[in-house]
Amino acid sequence: MENIGNLIYAGKAKDVYSYKTDDNVIIKFRDDITAGDGERKDTFKGKGKCNSLISSKLFEILEENDINTQYIKLLESGSMLSKKLNMIPLEVILRNIATGSLTKRFPFKEKQDLKPPIIQMDFKNDEFHDPMLNDDIIITLKIATKDELSEIREITLKINEILSEFLKTKGIILVDFKLEFGKDLNGNIRLGDEISPDTCRFWDINTLDTLDKDLFRKGEGNVMDVYKKVCNLIVNEEDLNRWKIK
Ligand code: 5GP
Repeated sequence: MENIGNLIYAGKAKDVYSYKTDDNVIIKFRDDITAGDGERKDTFKGKGKCNSLISSKLFEILEENDINTQYIKLLESGSMLSKKLNMIPLEVILRNIATGSLTKRFPFKEKQDLKPPIIQMDFKNDEFHDPMLNDDIIITLKIATKDELSEIREITLKINEILSEFLKTKGIILVDFKLEFGKDLNGNIRLGDEISPDTCRFWDINTLDTLDKDLFRKGEGNVMDVYKKVCNLIVNEEDLNRWKIK
């Protein structure tokens, strides 16, 4: 691809490359999928394309609603041109419905509505296995300041409102999701990373069927069929044809 530079960072399902201008990077979505702290791995042909299209659509909706993100545009399916960020090593998790690790670790009822939603911050750190943090630990470790934490919380709640409303119109319940933030070259906080069935729990509004990575985590169903279904529900016809997803 034109103007692609060196590999800066290789994640579990994405790679980040430098770009011709210093303030931008290219995020490449791979077909890899992992679960259980990277212990289970597989590859699904077309997953990278699907996730890049879903993610770019959701980033575009957020930008239209005045959320600052790192997203600039899709260069081709699977490759996103993004603003370079210094990532903050937090996994900011918002939960609208109790499930997953929350019901395993705490006495919440499965599928219990969480109003107001719960925001949980985990340390993005493989060595320590992403432990849950509290404000004092985050501030003392200098991961973020008190003011930055309030800003991140406020943006996360706003993102939840925007995406929950949009996804509802597509027949999807936004159960929970994980966000990652970073600071741009001017020091402003922006949403980074991706928003896809790898990082969110999506349930079918009518059947409550799982439409996300939980299928892989639990070893149930056909993961790619479901990712393609979400792509078809979220991405418009024109883009699906343009990027040959159908
Ligand atoms: P849980 O803590 O219940 O496993 O996950 C809560 C939500 O955050 C889910 O939507 C899940 O996909 C997302 N999430 C939490 N940790 C990670 C992670 O390390 N990687 C990814 N991709 N998503 C995560």
